[in-house]
Amino acid sequence: MELQFYGATERVTGSCHILRTSGLTILVDCGLIQGTKEEEALNRSPFPFDPSSLDAVLLSHGHIDHSGRLPLLVKYGFRGPVYTQQATVDLCRILLLDSASLAENDAAYRRKNPQTRRDLHAEPLYTRQDALRSLEKLEGIPYDAKKKILPGVSVCFRDAGHILGSACVEVWLEEGGITRKLVFSGDLGQYDSPILKDPEAIGEADAVIVESTYGDRLHRAFDLTLSEIGGILSSACDRCGNILIPAFAIGRSQELLYLFAKNADTWGLNRWQVYLDSPMAIEASRIYWDYPELYDEEALLFRNAVKGMPVLKNLHLTPRVEQSQAINSRRSGAIIIAGSGMCNGGRILHHLKHNVNRPECSVLVTGYQAEGTLGRQLVDGAENITIHGKAFPVKAALHTVGGLSAHGDQEDMLRWLGGFRSRPKVFVVHGDEGVKKIFREVIEAKLHFDVSIPLAGEVIDLAVLQK
Ligand SMILES: [Zn+2]
Ligand SMILES: [Zn+2]
Repeated sequence: MELQFYGATERVTGSCHILRTSGLTILVDCGLIQGTKEEEALNRSPFPFDPSSLDAVLLSHGHIDHSGRLPLLVKYGFRGPVYTQQATVDLCRILLLDSASLAENDAAYRRKNPQTRRDLHAEPLYTRQDALRSLEKLEGIPYDAKKKILPGVSVCFRDAGHILGSACVEVWLEEGGITRKLVFSGDLGQYDSPILKDPEAIGEADAVIVESTYGDRLHRAFDLTLSEIGGILSSACDRCGNILIPAFAIGRSQELLYLFAKNADTWGLNRWQVYLDSPMAIEASRIYWDYPELYDEEALLFRNAVKGMPVLKNLHLTPRVEQSQAINSRRSGAIIIAGSGMCNGGRILHHLKHNVNRPECSVLVTGYQAEGTLGRQLVDGAENITIHGKAFPVKAALHTVGGLSAHGDQEDMLRWLGGFRSRPKVFVVHGDEGVKKIFREVIEAKLHFDVSIPLAGEVIDLAVLQK
């Protein structure tokens, strides 16, 4: 009975852990590595196991850094089931097909504009066809329903409060009279965040594998974040320009719309026209709408009080390209939510082209901006930016609102870990090197659990697990 660390150990992305028991092999997550070109090239390296020999996959949530290599797994022979929460099955349809389209477009672009001889024969990492085949393997399980998936292996998904359908995965392994229970945190959300329920407390475990994205910091209090957004909207209104909001299609876009709808009067939203300019975000919003049973009490009350989507009177959904282009003629009074969330592609680039050089406009950044992205350049105060090969001076007002993260902060994660009464052995993954160390020290100091930072490839014998 063993646990092997494979992904999200040396880097944050590419979540993937391997469980072996009684001759069975089970994967927990199968995520894409995201980062520099060199790092992303690792997605093409073979798996350290034969995909056809795997018995099952457990998927914590839909984000690509947890689900994005599933199409490859199926392409290389995996035939078993992928168990996950039902809403994740629906969100994966959008996310994996989008990931495949991006890969296909990227390969086509490189064949057309080759930089090296290799580019002449560039192949996508996987195709839409591969993604569709992997979607057939997904099997939804509701939260809190313990299920025996293989002889000696049971699982249960608990709400992680991160995005719709996100789960902490409980796994019970039984071999030779020994039972061990492991809990994989997946990605943990913030407590009291909009729409979703809080991360669920789990009392018992022999070992916990916990993420640590923000293990070294505290987020700004949520009510301060709300008044910050209100202030930005009113100052932007006085300047009579447009507001651009680069946003992730899944999670952040729905949160923003929910907050807009709830605070419409206080924030003077009736003076604006709001555009959700992303086919993917529109589709994801419909899926969010279809799962009221996963909302927290406040969101459920709100949903019951409104008749249906869209919940804002002045919200415009613009899935088609010509609808999106029509927004360009608006010089003032438009709030435009568009992807990509880090401005490294997508429709937000067209809106930036039309607005970023106008001092009366604003750009509101609500999410993490990775190094090397256009969004990061804006946040870092670049005076000029280049979009589609053309330079633009940055004259628009730039605002960053940090409190809306889909990831819990140090306090949130400690609170969740504190729910374990059984003093489990803790393995810290899914974080930058320095952050993991800080988080380990904090867990040891505050909860007195035994904590390790596993190396990639490290194997833990679960039968002799020392707590
Ligand atoms: Zn995530
Ligand atoms: Zn993640």
